[in-house]
Amino acid sequence: MIGQEDAPVNSSEEIKRLKAENAALKKHLQQLNTITMANADVAYKMNADWSHMLELNARDFLEATHEPDQQWMQRYILPKDQPRVLTAIKEAIDQKRMFELEYPVVTADGGQGWTLSRAIPVLDQDGNIAEWLGLGVDITARKKAELELLKLMEELEQQKRLYETIIGSTPDLVYIFDLEARFSYANEALLTMWGRTKENSFGKSLLEVGYEPWHAAMHEREIEHIKKTKETVRGEVAFPHATLGKRIYDYILVPVLDAKGQVSVVAGTTRDITEIRKLSEQKDEFLAIASHELKTPLTSLKAYAQVLQSIFEDKHDVDAVMMLDRMDKQINKLTGLITDLLDVTRIHSGKLQLNQERFDLSVLTSGIVEELQLTTSKHAIKEDIPPGLFLYADMERIGQVITNLVTNAIKYSPSGGDIVVKLRKQGDDLLLSVQDFGIGIPADRQSKVFEQFYRANNHRQAISGMGIGLYISAEIVQRSEGTIWVDSQEGIGSTFHVSLPMGKAAVNS
Ligand code: ADP
Repeated sequence: MIGQEDAPVNSSEEIKRLKAENAALKKHLQQLNTITMANADVAYKMNADWSHMLELNARDFLEATHEPDQQWMQRYILPKDQPRVLTAIKEAIDQKRMFELEYPVVTADGGQGWTLSRAIPVLDQDGNIAEWLGLGVDITARKKAELELLKLMEELEQQKRLYETIIGSTPDLVYIFDLEARFSYANEALLTMWGRTKENSFGKSLLEVGYEPWHAAMHEREIEHIKKTKETVRGEVAFPHATLGKRIYDYILVPVLDAKGQVSVVAGTTRDITEIRKLSEQKDEFLAIASHELKTPLTSLKAYAQVLQSIFEDKHDVDAVMMLDRMDKQINKLTGLITDLLDVTRIHSGKLQLNQERFDLSVLTSGIVEELQLTTSKHAIKEDIPPGLFLYADMERIGQVITNLVTNAIKYSPSGGDIVVKLRKQGDDLLLSVQDFGIGIPADRQSKVFEQFYRANNHRQAISGMGIGLYISAEIVQRSEGTIWVDSQEGIGSTFHVSLPMGKAAVNS
């Protein structure tokens, strides 16, 4: 039988058929072209060994070529990327396989873009490559985003390494709880203390990693509180360490919020303060002993000074009497300083005694004002004190507070001026204020002046002091269920306020 392909080609039937086939093929090719250009940004044709680019269409992405071009590699690909592209081409040619590669290209506007390029070999009748048909997609945006992401990931990794190194090397215990109070992180120090590994600790509850029930329950309550209120919790806890015996720890638990402001985890740090606590106790003990030892000779010194004073008074030796009077004042000052130091140690050890009694605060305040007026000629202490305002509190300690406030008002207005001491009744409270027109306190230091040993130091010349007067005053006021605060403006002056509940005195007055 004779096959169709052997039929004469010039028969009119055959020509008709070929024409129809040709038209169908053209239509098919047109459709194919539309589809490919809809999906690709570049269409190109290469000769068999890729030495010539025969044609390239690329919208605005790459510069078009319609003539065979030997310089295409230089035109479209940067020197640094050429070896990689050439290797991929060689492989494709050798194996007569599809060429497929992502690489940077020089774009039509001279900038740099990225393409994903694929080319398939068109074979001739003998199975040799006749040419290559290729399509490229502009992947610049994706690639840039990928590179950006990679950079971000690297930065993130670096940050992570940094934090892990810091957190891993600190002796403090650092950990994270999930919202079910299970550990989702614990640093090296904590794992070592537990004698556990990450694997058998992360995802475990406090009880599961070995906390005692009371201790676990306490932290679980705190985590619940943080979840509800988003507040930071700070506390102190003592428990036995595996090898070091009983230790004291200071811990702080903070909420970590997500982008919506909801608590996502609770982060905590715990510090072993046993040694610091011990040192602080030793310091207090030393201060208590030293103050006590200093006070004893001072008492006899004061007594001898008084005896001497009366002897010289009898002899009418005015100069000696005056000097002994000054000596007595200095002894009183020294006694005051030592008493303050003793008070600090008493506060620390919880031994500051308050003896409550009913007394007339108006009389007490006036008396102190009059006494302190004698110590200064540069200041005029003005009283605005209504009579008969009674308080139920420790009279001596409240007197100490007033003395401290008025002494400070004098001390911190070195150029002199008025000092106004006011007393008022407000509801069930008595309100005392001491106003001066001195150096004032900078806004950022005002909240700190009630801390022990804090000195604002905002004056050119040093003004002597130990930074404990206001700390003791604040403790006395607090223990008397009152409040103390300051209004101040640097360079203008300060007003210290004390509000005290009249307590039982309110009933009796
Ligand atoms: P000290 O006066 O011995 O330093 P205080 O505890 O009495 O200690 O005061 C703490 C600090 O508060 C002072 O060092 C000072 O900086 C600041 N301060 C206290 N009272 C006043 C005041 N009336 N005016 C300005 N600053 C004051």
